[in-house]
Amino acid sequence: MTEIEAIQKQILRAKEIRWIKQHNFKQEYKSTIISFKFNIPSWPKNSLEIREAFQKSKFSYCSYMKKNHKEISLLEQNETILGPEAFFLAKDGPVKVKKSSIDFEENFTIGRLLDIDVLGPNSDSHIERETKRKCYLCNNIAIYCMRENTHSQIELRLFFDTLLKKFVEE
Ligand SMILES: [Zn+2]
Repeated sequence: MTEIEAIQKQILRAKEIRWIKQHNFKQEYKSTIISFKFNIPSWPKNSLEIREAFQKSKFSYCSYMKKNHKEISLLEQNETILGPEAFFLAKDGPVKVKKSSIDFEENFTIGRLLDIDVLGPNSDSHIERETKRKCYLCNNIAIYCMRENTHSQIELRLFFDTLLKKFVEE
Protein backbone atom coordinates (compact mmCIF):
# COMPACT_ATOMS: atom_id res chain seq x y z
CA MET A 1 0.00 0.00 0.00
CA THR A 2 1.40 3.42 -0.91
CA GLU A 3 1.30 6.35 1.48
CA ILE A 4 -1.54 7.95 -0.48
CA GLU A 5 -3.56 4.75 -0.40
CA ALA A 6 -3.00 4.49 3.35
CA ILE A 7 -4.26 8.04 3.87
CA GLN A 8 -7.25 7.41 1.61
CA LYS A 9 -8.09 4.37 3.69
CA GLN A 10 -7.88 6.41 6.90
CA ILE A 11 -10.14 9.08 5.39
CA LEU A 12 -12.75 6.52 4.40
CA ARG A 13 -12.61 4.98 7.85
CA ALA A 14 -13.00 8.39 9.55
CA LYS A 15 -16.03 9.18 7.35
CA GLU A 16 -17.52 5.82 8.26
CA ILE A 17 -17.00 6.48 11.98
CA ARG A 18 -18.62 9.91 11.63
CA TRP A 19 -21.61 8.31 9.96
CA ILE A 20 -21.92 5.62 12.62
CA LYS A 21 -21.68 8.24 15.36
CA GLN A 22 -24.48 10.31 13.88
CA HIS A 23 -26.65 7.18 13.61
CA ASN A 24 -25.93 6.13 17.15
CA PHE A 25 -26.90 9.59 18.41
CA LYS A 26 -30.10 9.38 16.36
CA GLN A 27 -31.00 6.08 17.97
CA GLU A 28 -30.07 7.22 21.43
CA TYR A 29 -31.98 10.54 21.34
CA LYS A 30 -34.71 9.65 18.82
CA SER A 31 -34.43 13.14 17.38
CA THR A 32 -32.79 15.11 14.55
CA ILE A 33 -28.99 15.00 14.59
CA ILE A 34 -26.76 17.57 12.89
CA SER A 35 -23.20 16.93 11.76
CA PHE A 36 -21.32 20.21 11.43
CA LYS A 37 -17.91 20.45 9.71
CA PHE A 38 -15.88 22.06 6.96
CA ASN A 39 -15.53 20.75 3.48
CA ILE A 40 -11.73 20.94 3.27
CA PRO A 41 -10.05 20.29 -0.07
CA SER A 42 -6.72 18.52 -0.08
CA TRP A 43 -4.40 18.32 2.90
CA PRO A 44 -3.90 18.99 5.86
CA LYS A 45 -7.42 19.02 7.26
CA ASN A 46 -6.50 20.83 10.43
CA SER A 47 -4.46 23.82 11.55
CA LEU A 48 -4.69 26.65 14.07
CA GLU A 49 -6.61 28.70 11.53
CA ILE A 50 -9.03 25.90 10.70
CA ARG A 51 -9.65 25.31 14.39
CA GLU A 52 -10.25 28.99 15.05
CA ALA A 53 -12.52 29.39 12.05
CA PHE A 54 -14.41 26.30 13.15
CA GLN A 55 -15.11 27.70 16.62
CA LYS A 56 -16.20 31.00 15.14
CA SER A 57 -18.48 29.35 12.58
CA LYS A 58 -19.97 27.01 15.14
CA PHE A 59 -20.79 29.95 17.38
CA SER A 60 -22.45 31.85 14.52
CA TYR A 61 -24.41 28.76 13.50
CA CYS A 62 -25.74 28.29 17.06
CA SER A 63 -26.78 31.96 17.28
CA TYR A 64 -28.43 31.78 13.88
CA MET A 65 -30.41 28.68 14.78
CA LYS A 66 -31.44 30.18 18.10
CA LYS A 67 -32.59 33.36 16.37
CA ASN A 68 -34.68 31.23 14.04
CA HIS A 69 -36.25 29.37 16.95
CA LYS A 70 -34.46 26.12 16.22
CA GLU A 71 -33.34 24.72 19.50
CA ILE A 72 -30.05 22.86 19.16
CA SER A 73 -27.58 21.57 21.72
CA LEU A 74 -24.03 20.36 21.31
CA LEU A 75 -23.59 16.63 21.82
CA GLU A 76 -19.96 16.14 20.99
CA GLN A 77 -17.00 17.84 19.37
CA ASN A 78 -13.99 15.99 17.97
CA GLU A 79 -10.92 16.42 15.90
CA THR A 80 -10.29 13.61 13.49
CA ILE A 81 -8.13 13.09 10.42
CA LEU A 82 -10.93 14.98 8.57
CA GLY A 83 -10.58 18.05 10.79
CA PRO A 84 -12.84 19.45 13.52
CA GLU A 85 -16.44 18.21 13.68
CA ALA A 86 -19.40 18.81 15.96
CA PHE A 87 -22.66 16.94 16.49
CA PHE A 88 -25.82 18.70 17.61
CA LEU A 89 -29.17 17.47 18.79
CA ALA A 90 -32.16 19.37 17.37
CA LYS A 91 -35.73 19.39 18.62
CA ASP A 92 -37.32 20.25 15.29
CA GLY A 93 -37.91 17.86 12.42
CA PRO A 94 -35.06 17.28 9.93
CA VAL A 95 -36.64 19.15 7.00
CA LYS A 96 -37.00 22.39 8.98
CA VAL A 97 -33.52 22.04 10.46
CA LYS A 98 -32.00 21.39 7.04
CA LYS A 99 -33.77 24.40 5.58
CA SER A 100 -32.42 26.72 8.28
CA SER A 101 -28.96 25.20 7.91
CA ILE A 102 -28.97 25.83 4.15
CA ASP A 103 -30.11 29.41 4.77
CA PHE A 104 -27.20 29.79 7.16
CA GLU A 105 -24.71 28.28 4.67
CA GLU A 106 -25.94 30.61 1.96
CA ASN A 107 -25.74 33.78 4.04
CA PHE A 108 -22.72 33.21 6.23
CA THR A 109 -19.32 34.65 5.14
CA ILE A 110 -17.67 31.25 4.76
CA GLY A 111 -20.86 29.26 4.35
CA ARG A 112 -19.58 27.71 1.16
CA LEU A 113 -16.79 26.06 3.12
CA LEU A 114 -19.20 24.41 5.53
CA ASP A 115 -20.82 21.04 5.28
CA ILE A 116 -23.87 20.63 7.51
CA ASP A 117 -25.58 17.25 7.32
CA VAL A 118 -28.95 16.65 8.91
CA LEU A 119 -30.25 13.21 9.83
CA GLY A 120 -33.88 12.65 10.83
CA PRO A 121 -34.89 10.30 13.65
CA ASN A 122 -36.70 7.96 11.27
CA SER A 123 -34.29 8.07 8.38
CA ASP A 124 -31.18 6.21 7.30
CA SER A 125 -29.85 8.95 5.07
CA HIS A 126 -29.18 12.68 5.24
CA ILE A 127 -31.80 15.16 4.10
CA GLU A 128 -30.99 16.13 0.51
CA ARG A 129 -30.82 19.74 -0.62
CA GLU A 130 -33.55 20.84 -3.00
CA THR A 131 -31.11 22.81 -5.07
CA LYS A 132 -27.66 21.38 -5.69
CA ARG A 133 -24.77 23.01 -3.96
CA LYS A 134 -22.66 25.47 -5.92
CA CYS A 135 -18.93 25.03 -6.43
CA TYR A 136 -16.44 27.00 -4.33
CA LEU A 137 -14.89 28.68 -7.32
CA CYS A 138 -17.39 28.95 -10.14
CA ASN A 139 -21.13 29.02 -10.46
CA ASN A 140 -21.46 25.46 -11.62
CA ILE A 141 -22.93 22.73 -9.46
CA ALA A 142 -20.25 21.47 -7.08
CA ILE A 143 -20.69 17.82 -7.96
CA TYR A 144 -20.20 18.62 -11.65
CA CYS A 145 -16.83 20.30 -11.01
CA MET A 146 -15.82 17.42 -8.76
CA ARG A 147 -16.64 14.80 -11.39
CA GLU A 148 -15.03 16.74 -14.20
CA ASN A 149 -12.01 17.82 -12.14
CA THR A 150 -12.62 21.38 -13.32
CA HIS A 151 -10.30 22.84 -10.69
CA SER A 152 -7.03 21.49 -9.37
CA GLN A 153 -6.72 20.55 -5.70
CA ILE A 154 -4.11 23.30 -5.31
CA GLU A 155 -6.50 25.89 -6.74
CA LEU A 156 -9.33 24.75 -4.44
CA ARG A 157 -7.12 24.71 -1.40
CA LEU A 158 -5.77 28.16 -2.14
CA PHE A 159 -9.31 29.47 -2.29
CA PHE A 160 -10.21 27.72 0.97
CA ASP A 161 -7.10 29.05 2.78
CA THR A 162 -7.55 32.61 1.52
CA LEU A 163 -11.19 32.80 2.54
CA LEU A 164 -10.49 31.19 5.90
CA LYS A 165 -7.59 33.52 6.67
CA LYS A 166 -9.68 36.59 5.88
CA PHE A 167 -12.48 35.26 8.07
CA VAL A 168 -10.22 34.52 11.05
CA GLU A 169 -8.62 37.95 10.83
CA GLU A 170 -11.80 39.98 10.50
ZN1 LIG B 1 -16.32 24.95 -10.20
